[in-house]
Amino acid sequence: MSNLASYAVTEKNSRGRLIKETGPTGRSEFQRDRDRIIHSTAFRRLEYKTQVFVNHEGDLFRTRLTHSLEVAQIGRSIARNFHLNEDLVEAISLAHDLGHTPFGHAGQDALNDCMLGYGGFEHNLQSLRVVDVLEERYADFDGLNLCFETREGILKHAAKSNAEKLGEVAARFLNNKRPSLEAQLANFADEIAYNNHDVDDGLRSGLLTLEQLKNVSIFSRHLDVVTKRYPKLTGRRLVHETVRSMINTLATDLTQQSQVNIQNAGVKLLSDVHEATPLIGFSEEVKREQQELKKFLRDNLYQHYRVVRMSNKARHTIERLFDSFNSNIKLLPTQYQIKFQQEKQQAIADYIAGMTDRYAIREYRRLFAIELE
Ligand code: MG
Repeated sequence: MSNLASYAVTEKNSRGRLIKETGPTGRSEFQRDRDRIIHSTAFRRLEYKTQVFVNHEGDLFRTRLTHSLEVAQIGRSIARNFHLNEDLVEAISLAHDLGHTPFGHAGQDALNDCMLGYGGFEHNLQSLRVVDVLEERYADFDGLNLCFETREGILKHAAKSNAEKLGEVAARFLNNKRPSLEAQLANFADEIAYNNHDVDDGLRSGLLTLEQLKNVSIFSRHLDVVTKRYPKLTGRRLVHETVRSMINTLATDLTQQSQVNIQNAGVKLLSDVHEATPLIGFSEEVKREQQELKKFLRDNLYQHYRVVRMSNKARHTIERLFDSFNSNIKLLPTQYQIKFQQEKQQAIADYIAGMTDRYAIREYRRLFAIELE
């Protein structure tokens, strides 16, 4: 990849892989990371994991797989404008949710509660665990042996107690340093993607209405622009034009504001990025609008009674699975019993976190339903 900015991550300034390997041919190290992620088992499972709507509620809602693809698309476009390492942004984006539980945030919260006495459960730590430990594809190592910068980007946050256990990849949480701009960018691409697709899915599901969204500044502002331009437009096309226009504004604002931040901070090299304050970010006005939109989504979509009912079922399913495995480890599939005999609850969490929505529901039935086939 040529014409990268002087502060971008490159193969030259990369800290490389934990286990040395011969370099790839015909692709860069970060393209190799991306390819390893796409070929992983955890990546395929994203297809059947909930983003907000449970997989079986409809074929058109986002799943964690399509969410991750949207994050990668948004991240790559912005990275290109910035002359950042597009392949690295893509790799981080595609991997960022690999450790997510079934049933979206309800699943993550439930598993975290189950694991409270055993170190807790946090999906982005689990994503790192997937690529570092759990994937079984290579003869020479566990996990995918990804480059340091990809792993650093996957680990979005870590509590101090966890950071102490994770070593180099989490050192920045202990000595107050920043990750690469590529990692910071992937994080914002995630936010842009989910806020916008949740508006779209919320409207599609009927849980949100256009009338409600007219009270949200960023939406109403863009809706006005679209309606002025296409006064007769209604229905799905009106929604799509508005959402598209929002994504475009957010990506543009993020690019412009971040460029100003980089200039003001006098950042020249990757090492400067680590020392500076976070440099990728929205302008104050857009930041306020994003917060308003997030609050709206929390109050009206994530707390909608139909979503809460789903979350409740998810919690029930995960708690019952966890409690059963924890009280009788013999219920766990043999491979999980053998592999982590020393850390029983971690093995259970790995098993549950790896489940797709429908696998968790089937496993629940296999454990608790008494029915004649
Ligand atoms: Mg995400």
